[in-house]
Amino acid sequence: MQKTKLKRKKYEPIGYKYKVKRSSAGLGLFADEDIPKGVGIVEYVGRELEKGEEYTITSQYLFEITSRRTIDGVARSNTARYINHSCRPNCEVEIHKGRVYVLSRRNIKAGEELSYDYGREFWKEYIKPKGCQCVKCLEKSMK
Ligand SMILES: [Zn+2]
Repeated sequence: MQKTKLKRKKYEPIGYKYKVKRSSAGLGLFADEDIPKGVGIVEYVGRELEKGEEYTITSQYLFEITSRRTIDGVARSNTARYINHSCRPNCEVEIHKGRVYVLSRRNIKAGEELSYDYGREFWKEYIKPKGCQCVKCLEKSMK
């Protein structure tokens, strides 16, 4: 039998540099050096909501970790909040041991804007009404 080793993902960010800059959709987070595929770039952090708070809070930075745990990443100290949505993203978000990590899903070049897919519900509610500013949708609207 062939031995196959499961390649473990590196969730915790190991120090790839990024910076906040102006982008097509307001501020965005950009790679400040080349970032390889499959590494943690930044953790999405926030205050944990109290029970029932998810029904009244209006933050657009909520992240549901489990059905019972949601965090609000609205604080500016949560650098990951600057990552914009894209329908053709170069990052993805994964929950690992109750924490939220943004990982590269392909090789990313220095200067590229980081993005991940916010998910269908968020897109329909908040992004579609304003018009999605991601590369994929802008290309489509040019045709
Ligand atoms: Zn789009």
